[in-house]
Amino acid sequence: MDIHEYQAKEILSQFGVEVPAGALAYSPEQAAYRSRELGGDRWVVKAQVHAGGRGKAGGVQVCGSDAEILEASEAMFGRKIVTHQTGPAGKGIYRVYVEAAVDIAREIYLGLVLDRSSQRVMIVCSGEGGMEIEEISAERPDSIIRATVEPAVGLQDFQCREIAFALGLDAALVQSFTRTLKGCYLAFRDLDATMVEINPLVVTGAGRILALDAKMTFDDNAMFRHPQVAELRDKSQEDPRECRAADRGLNYVGLTGNIGCIVNGAGLAMATMDTIKLAGGEPANFLDIGGGATPERVAKAFRLVMSDKNVQAVLVNIFAGINRCDWVAQGVIDALRADPVDIPVIVRLSGTNVEEGQKILAKSGLPIIRASTLEEAAERAVNAWKNDQAKGAKLRAV
Ligand code: GDP
Ligand code: MN
Repeated sequence: MDIHEYQAKEILSQFGVEVPAGALAYSPEQAAYRSRELGGDRWVVKAQVHAGGRGKAGGVQVCGSDAEILEASEAMFGRKIVTHQTGPAGKGIYRVYVEAAVDIAREIYLGLVLDRSSQRVMIVCSGEGGMEIEEISAERPDSIIRATVEPAVGLQDFQCREIAFALGLDAALVQSFTRTLKGCYLAFRDLDATMVEINPLVVTGAGRILALDAKMTFDDNAMFRHPQVAELRDKSQEDPRECRAADRGLNYVGLTGNIGCIVNGAGLAMATMDTIKLAGGEPANFLDIGGGATPERVAKAFRLVMSDKNVQAVLVNIFAGINRCDWVAQGVIDALRADPVDIPVIVRLSGTNVEEGQKILAKSGLPIIRASTLEEAAERAVNAWKNDQAKGAKLRAV
């Protein structure tokens, strides 16, 4: 789960990371009002969206008056901003953050990520702040400093000092740099984050270290332990398909192909996607309906897959252990009766109550294509889809 910059700054400041003074606004008028509350004579208006690269896309504007703040935020509210991280559809701007502008002497990149090979939290730093980490690793890989944290003892002061010296920071800044780094690490660890990124972390003209930008991503599976973090979720920033799935307790990842997949178990779901590709098709999604799926749950999964207008064939692949093939068959039929579809539906059932499941499908009288192995199912799905394409089937209207 991602959160907004202003929320990440609020969290990090509770862990001792210094951030510029700022306030949130839901309208241009409120943004101007917020700047007067903050005081000073220069402000930065920042679009709050779950994506970086806002600066280059007009989502970060330095302003010197009420009029400029109104103008800058009017250009942001209600618009979609497209950056290299949002995808072509962009992300809607419904909140802006107004901050007192900072006099920047130096920009540093700081990231904390979970390094799966060392199974530790890794700190990544570079003196080339302001650039994205992808650019830094392409253009200045030698500038990247890495350190891993031994979980039994946590991040040590000497590690922070080593990084500070490698960055060439002034000795007078080492203490506040250490506090910043340790604050980020503790926030990461205590709140089950998977990523903390401060880009840029700046040294101000007056010699302070401030987080000018902040991004945090959390482990979805740990959110039950952190209700205060879980409630920061902003559905307006999420893929609507994945959002609907999460609300229904389904594991769904939207993709760009045409064959919708309804599968039980993450491993089988991935094998199904691979087999579709081997058969010459492209999966439209990853979907794991989990164990013990009731007909209602299967029908919901079916509707979810159908809500993607790129789906031109649906493959249901169930290897039932805890699941029951008869329940799955019933769910598919219920979904098809409630909302008939004019695209091929392929069902492969195996395991618990398979005979009952097959009977339910056969008795339904619906034009469901059946298959007995995964390979056969994928081939039938791709062939049926190709035949439809050859006949000139159009994109469905949803
Ligand atoms: P991003 O583009 O989404 O990563 O947004 P950032 O918050 O990182 O802002 C982009 C750039 O705007 C930063 O790298 C800074 O150079 C600049 N910027 C942001 N806030 C301030 C500020 O308070 N003062 C000045 N001078 N520049 C700022
Ligand atoms: Mn940034």
